[in-house]
Amino acid sequence: MDKQKSGFVAIIGRPNVGKSTLMNRLIGQKIAITSDKPQTTRNRIQTVYTDERGQIVFLDTPGLHKARTKLGDYMVDAAKATFADADAIMWLVEASTYIGAGDKDIASSLQEVKKPIILVINKCDKIKKEEILPVIAAYKELLDFADIIPVSAAVGTGTDDLLDLLFSYLKEGPLYFDEETVTDQSMRQIAAELIREEALKKLRDEIPHGIAVEVTKMSYREDGNIYDIDASIICERDSHKGIIIGKGGSMLKRIGTGARLQIEDMTQTRVNLKLFVKVRKDWRDNDTFLKEFGYK
Ligand code: GDP
Ligand code: MG
Repeated sequence: MDKQKSGFVAIIGRPNVGKSTLMNRLIGQKIAITSDKPQTTRNRIQTVYTDERGQIVFLDTPGLHKARTKLGDYMVDAAKATFADADAIMWLVEASTYIGAGDKDIASSLQEVKKPIILVINKCDKIKKEEILPVIAAYKELLDFADIIPVSAAVGTGTDDLLDLLFSYLKEGPLYFDEETVTDQSMRQIAAELIREEALKKLRDEIPHGIAVEVTKMSYREDGNIYDIDASIICERDSHKGIIIGKGGSMLKRIGTGARLQIEDMTQTRVNLKLFVKVRKDWRDNDTFLKEFGYK
């Protein structure tokens, strides 16, 4: 048998290009979390793929936002640090010749990066085969890629080829995690992230400056296979709090139900979720809060 390979691949891409869908497709199973550990100080999520060829550790890159707030500064620094740690970078985009400001920002942040950059064109199921070449041509104008590969994370087209390609950029190396590991995120972080995603989905664009989620209590009842989770959605203004709660609590209820189902699905346990809403003015510019939420 050939020697095993291993290494780190940073993933970057605008929201909604399909990063989570691709990860789920590559990992091929629901993330099964067995134990709760205290919130780590690191915000970076690792997903681990292992097969007989070796191991790929995927590093999530925080979005590169314009650095208007401390959170923004942090994001840019964290993205740079992630690239420095990676053996290769995978940039995920949508299959469209229209390249928006978000993707242009990513391209400029990748300009000085000296690692192989692989462009993954996702959602190719949405376009005709002959429309792929113009997309490739449009992105080639922006950056010098080591490789370009069209995939559909949702359908599963091209994802095996993508794994082959990624392994081709990795060197011989040890397995960093045992082969059952699929993530280093704690149950607490995963719950917070699922609640945040669900809230953003339900609120659409009604909360202009974003929200954070803090899990304040988490305990497991062995007898019923139930997690009891208390969490707070943190927003910046009283008016935002009103929107998040909704008429007669209806919005918060919808967010809670959606998030509960997601957490239950992912952890294969029952979940008893209590959601609260807290206002913390300017939390995104406050070092202490950022630290508390695992951003530092
Ligand atoms: P993320 O924000 O980058 O993690 O994106 P998600 O993985 O959450 O996906 C955003 C949306 O795009 C979801 O509605 C997915 O179902 C959809 N999506 C992801 N991959 C594909 C794909 O290959 N084809 C199509 N048609 N939709 C996709
Ligand atoms: Mg996602």
